[in-house]
Amino acid sequence: MSEPALFDLIVIGGGVNGAGVARDAAGRGARVLLLEAGDLASGTSSKSTKLVHGGLRYLEYREFGLVREALKERDVLWDIAPHIVRPMRFVLPVSRAMRPHWQLRAALKLYDTIGGKSALPGSQAIELAEHRAGEPLFGNMARGFEYSDCWVDDARLVVLNAVDAKRKGAEVRTHEAVTGLGREDDGDWLVHTAKGQYRAKAVVNAAGLQVDELTGLAGEKPQYRIRRVRGSHIVVPRLFEHNYPYILQQPDTRICFAIPYEDKFTLIGTTDADHTGSLDTLEPDEDEIRYLCDAVNRYFTRQVTPADIVWSYAGVRALVDDGSSRPEAATRGYKLVLSEEKAGAPLLGIYGGKITSYRHVAEEVVDMLAKRLPALSGEAWTGTTPLPGGDFPKDASGLLRTELRAEYPFLDDFTIGRISRAYGLDAVYWLGDAQGWDDLGRNFGAGLTEAEVNYLREEEWAQTAKDILWRRSKLGLHMDAGEQVALKEFLGG
Ligand SMILES: Cc1cc2nc3c(=O)[nH]c(=O)nc-3n(C[C@H](O)[C@H](O)[C@H](O)COP(=O)(O)OP(=O)(O)OC[C@H]3O[C@@H](n4cnc5c(N)ncnc54)[C@H](O)[C@@H]3O)c2cc1C
Repeated sequence: MSEPALFDLIVIGGGVNGAGVARDAAGRGARVLLLEAGDLASGTSSKSTKLVHGGLRYLEYREFGLVREALKERDVLWDIAPHIVRPMRFVLPVSRAMRPHWQLRAALKLYDTIGGKSALPGSQAIELAEHRAGEPLFGNMARGFEYSDCWVDDARLVVLNAVDAKRKGAEVRTHEAVTGLGREDDGDWLVHTAKGQYRAKAVVNAAGLQVDELTGLAGEKPQYRIRRVRGSHIVVPRLFEHNYPYILQQPDTRICFAIPYEDKFTLIGTTDADHTGSLDTLEPDEDEIRYLCDAVNRYFTRQVTPADIVWSYAGVRALVDDGSSRPEAATRGYKLVLSEEKAGAPLLGIYGGKITSYRHVAEEVVDMLAKRLPALSGEAWTGTTPLPGGDFPKDASGLLRTELRAEYPFLDDFTIGRISRAYGLDAVYWLGDAQGWDDLGRNFGAGLTEAEVNYLREEEWAQTAKDILWRRSKLGLHMDAGEQVALKEFLGG
């Protein structure tokens, strides 16, 4: 048998945290291997509400440090990924039965300032009768607020981090689960998968919901208990014509979002419920669907029923168990656990966190490891270096669309919008010098062509139709069943 390949760092888990660590460490000179059990972002990182936000409601739980840090990150992520991250003006209707106007105004003032200087506009009070966002709402909601946050394509954020890690020399292996790991006598880690063995000077455990399991496999005791909290979302044909998302207070004091989604739809979520069942097949249950329908039906004149749902998904948060009585109150903060020096080769576990904090978490992880891993020589760099395709000013996404339209006049508006948001400047890698649709090969529907599919297979580790339709894109919402089957057949199942 040949000797296992040697890496400086093995990262277990290709969610947002693992991909972020792989990118950061590869950019600081380490030989990195990222191992993901399924597809990239197939865990929680494709099932979020997709907000890059401080979390207005965490102010109520007095998580000021978390909100401050996340708001700072919001601007950083917008800067480095202006294609997949976009600012939005959220509308918060004031309802008499819920939090009073003065309390919301005070919370928003704090939200505007706690993160320091931001390029996003601050909050303001609005009269819903005179505001576009008031049109689809019941008339008894007269007042509200507008405030800023950002939104991101979560699964693409993961993939673009992995792409950049690869461009910086990392090896990325998907569909390769870690089945065992242990420290060898020579001081290295030996990591086992069904496909082989690898050596490494250090291991990062970014296995999300399996973080405690992997810690156990490595022969160490998990230092934190994980609380698994499920959240579900439903997607319905769009409930309103404008681009304002809503944050809707609920009678149980929770909040739900209704967000313009994929041009023709509205994304509604999320729920919070402790999850004790299997993690293999996650679906929103009937109660959650009813809850989400009720949540919007309290506000919009157009009523939603389960029959309107075109797609839904459920995800489970791996939260650090802080003993909170209600799942929505459990901290969204994170903990990093580095093994003791005397134990030998470092093992660093990531517990909890948010999409919004991933870059900062990755930087902290790599800074911690750098003290014990000489290969990590460089300075922190990810806060100022664009993700692939994002090397343009954050206010220039309109210009990017104009340029794509000029360069590829045969593309329709939907496709221009979709690919500029998904690939940014890197769209040209697969559009090349195409003069018309025919130059892009077979068209699978909704503007998905063979050229793009090949790019996703060769550069972004896509293997199945699901990888392409629901993670590299959301074209599953736009292609009919026959088109999806044809893509599946093309990909070989
Ligand atoms: C309903 C919901 C809404 C949310 N909304 C937001 C939001 O709006 N904004 C925000 O900032 N955050 C949000 N979050 C939180 C955010 O989604 C998570 O914090 C984040 O995705 C966690 O990323 P991760 O990389 O730690 O975990 P994951 O994405 O789960 O990645 C872990 C990966 O490890 C892999 N893995 C596990 N075991 C092994 C093994 N043995 N070998 C190899 N690989 C393995 C898994 O397959 C998985 O892909 C939300 C979460 C949920 C559930």
